[in-house]
Amino acid sequence: MPTVLPFFPESHPDETFLSRVSRYHLLSGNPTKAATDQELFGKRVILDFVVPAQALSSLVARLPGEPELVMQSLVQENTLLPAFSPFLGTEATPARQEIQLGQHYSGLGRLPQRVVGMHGESRLCVECLREDVSKRGIGYWHRGHQIPGVQACWRHHRPLLQGCPVCRRPFARPQHLLSMPWSNCPCGWQPTTHATTTKANELDVRYAEFSARLLEANLPPLKPGQLIRAYRQKIAAHGLVRKSSVSWTAVLDALKLEFGGEFLSSTDPAYRAGQLRSWLRLSLLEGQIELPLTRHVILALYLFGDFDAFKASVLAQTDEPLEKLRVSKKDTVQEESDPKLQSMRNKVRHLQAQWPTISLDDLWKRSYATADWLYQHDRSWLLQALQVQTEQAPDTDGYLEQDAGFVETINARLDGLYETQGKPNRVTKERLRGLLPKSIPIAQMKVRYPRASELIDTLKESYWHFILRRVMFGIGEARRLQAAPANTAIRKLSGVHSVAFDAVLDHFNWEPEQMVLPSFDAKSELVRLGVNRQWLGPTNQSHNHGGRRYKNKAVEDRGKAA
Ligand SMILES: [Zn+2]
Ligand SMILES: [Zn+2]
Repeated sequence: MPTVLPFFPESHPDETFLSRVSRYHLLSGNPTKAATDQELFGKRVILDFVVPAQALSSLVARLPGEPELVMQSLVQENTLLPAFSPFLGTEATPARQEIQLGQHYSGLGRLPQRVVGMHGESRLCVECLREDVSKRGIGYWHRGHQIPGVQACWRHHRPLLQGCPVCRRPFARPQHLLSMPWSNCPCGWQPTTHATTTKANELDVRYAEFSARLLEANLPPLKPGQLIRAYRQKIAAHGLVRKSSVSWTAVLDALKLEFGGEFLSSTDPAYRAGQLRSWLRLSLLEGQIELPLTRHVILALYLFGDFDAFKASVLAQTDEPLEKLRVSKKDTVQEESDPKLQSMRNKVRHLQAQWPTISLDDLWKRSYATADWLYQHDRSWLLQALQVQTEQAPDTDGYLEQDAGFVETINARLDGLYETQGKPNRVTKERLRGLLPKSIPIAQMKVRYPRASELIDTLKESYWHFILRRVMFGIGEARRLQAAPANTAIRKLSGVHSVAFDAVLDHFNWEPEQMVLPSFDAKSELVRLGVNRQWLGPTNQSHNHGGRRYKNKAVEDRGKAA
């Protein structure tokens, strides 16, 4: 059992753990960090910026008080974990009221880099510093300034400094304690007397304010379903949906329009590096949402405007697991069952956390063995993780060539799908994929065969074109069977619902009695009217809304437009 320390500096409001340890170091008069480490932790430690978990548990054993409570207050008051915590929940997270004091942070040893993102600088607001010195007698480092993406002081609306403005020396160095603001920069610059008139960018201030509120709110880990439901509701309210599902392209465009590329680039390293393919991704990995804090904040800022609205919305969501969530299950299972795969992928993730713009070329140079192993055993993950466009990847698997072949096959066999005998079936994506010479899992389709996949998306038959083909089939059958009355016969034989049937006839001004006559040629009629296989129908709405009143209004509107 380690002996209790004679003293450890009291925390100032919102002070970082590194700041408290650095102050201890100064007060103790220890000549080296190693000596301070020995006293506080009993060994050398690396002070991880977000949650120095290892250091905390060693220190707790040397502080007076109930260890659980001491740990709780250190984590809550001196680390950044409360800002990350809400985004680290899994579906297995207990409901909010069931979380006991202290258990809240039970997972603090395993903070995934993909949620934490990049960190490692120490940022300073000189106005906060001056205020702290005059109010509390000493300056210190504020947690609120260190949250990833924060570039301004939300209190003073000033840009934060990351280093000396004169000699550019950074405030923080890996494996070192902080010496400023308690002493001047070796070049002579004095942080406490530094005056600035530069105003921070308004967006930076909003981001910083949201982040600071998030940190102090100390929310519990939320279930991914709660967050995703809250996001989706707002996305839908903003109209950023395509056919009732979220259009991430539209969301990204809206973010660019609202915030501008400059702000997004300076806040999020992956955006700056142009890694936009899965920039906004609400899929799960190891049960957690795969999105770094910066993007949660950017998305929430846009959707909810401020922290209070965000908090109210997520806490109002039900705890029910989300059914239709895209879960990278295959990934997780494969990774869990293969420790080698896991460690190789982790190496890449670790490098990405330090170096978000790392490319495949860089990986080869930096860690040849990792690149080599993953390239042989886990190529699609590697290429996706490094955002390598499949088109640029060497085509050793022949996917590129196959993709081109598939495009030809689909184009050549497409008409055949419309020429089958009997009652027409809708030409769905599934039927289009069925034209390919081999069956391909949907998950691979887009990644390996992007051109064929895109072609299938554009070629799938619209609901209304399918209805027209059914009506034409009904006409043919009614003629063949000489069934009467014409209206009922065509409808029944076509198998089309009466609402859709009436809508089509109304739209084209077709009379059932004339339709059964040999003079009526629906096919050339459609060509004349310019109706194609992706025709959106009498209204631009889905068939669910095809009521008569609605339909008539749409037809009138078309009349006016014409
Ligand atoms: Zn400030
Ligand atoms: Zn300097």
